Amino acid sequence: MRPHELLIPRPEGLYCPPGDFYIDPVRPVDRAVITHGHSDHARAGHHHVLATPETLAIMAVRYGEGFCAQAQSLSYGDPVTQRGVTVQLAPAGHVLGSAQAVVEHQGLRIVVSGDYKRRRDPTCTLFEPVPCDVFISEATFALPVFTHPDDRDEVGKLLRSVAANPERTHLVGAYALGKAQRLIALIREAGYGETIFIHGAMERLCRLYEAHGVALGPLSPATIADRGAKRDFAGKIVIAPPSAFADRWAQRFPDPVDCFASGWMRVKQRAKQRGVELPLIVSDHADWDELTRTALDVAPQELWITHGRDDALAHWAKGQGLTARPLRLIGYDDEGE
Ligand SMILES: [Zn+2]
Ligand SMILES: [Zn+2]
Repeated sequence: MRPHELLIPRPEGLYCPPGDFYIDPVRPVDRAVITHGHSDHARAGHHHVLATPETLAIMAVRYGEGFCAQAQSLSYGDPVTQRGVTVQLAPAGHVLGSAQAVVEHQGLRIVVSGDYKRRRDPTCTLFEPVPCDVFISEATFALPVFTHPDDRDEVGKLLRSVAANPERTHLVGAYALGKAQRLIALIREAGYGETIFIHGAMERLCRLYEAHGVALGPLSPATIADRGAKRDFAGKIVIAPPSAFADRWAQRFPDPVDCFASGWMRVKQRAKQRGVELPLIVSDHADWDELTRTALDVAPQELWITHGRDDALAHWAKGQGLTARPLRLIGYDDEGE
């Protein structure tokens, strides 16, 4: 069996002809394997969904219990066979429940990384390298210029700024699934025990993380009963999805310090364009070093690159004697992560 007979791009997503299923399809399909709960990967409306229990729980929170007709939960490392094709999920270290899909048939093994990172994250299981014949890697930050700093240093910047500006609210933009909870957990690890205020869009996901054993400490909704109470949030940390910054919602905070937690904050121009006063470089995607180290760790014969910038990584792979090829899958947007 040749690799492209086992997994092939189609407009709906990456398709496995012998197993008759898709991985992270962008259109409704009969059978889907979902790597993680971000909305560009996990969509509603498939008939049958196979995913980790955490990812299924996230989908139920986002789309309601009826997000698919049949949900099948699969824990990390448990194989399941579909029409002779074996599927296993391995931790991806990206967000709670995130998985790589390990697809195996007639002695050929392809690993679909989904979105991943290699660093420790207190809110999810560490990435596990799975040796394979073909590794399909994401490439969101696949340029040598992207080296993410230590997240503890970034959180240290935030906490020093909070201490130095007791009259101002620190309004931190962070994506509602994954980034927000990771940031809160890191803030707690740094010793900050005060209440952290969260936007309403994050409440259920924060509760879900806590139900899965991720302690987030005292959280409170960032709402105020009367509009005269602006000072309530002075000196506090408020976490909200970036989209909320444009709303009237954001105007309730006194002289806010706008912060944004994203791997893209490495690009100074982006921080400037968004009017971010305190950029925090915290990414849930692998940086250049993590991407290349992972390709060496899983030692595939072929590296297929998707979902980002393929040129630099393909060039690097060729230098390592790996066959590399871009895999053009459409419908994924990692601006948002
Ligand atoms: Zn993602
Ligand atoms: Zn993604």
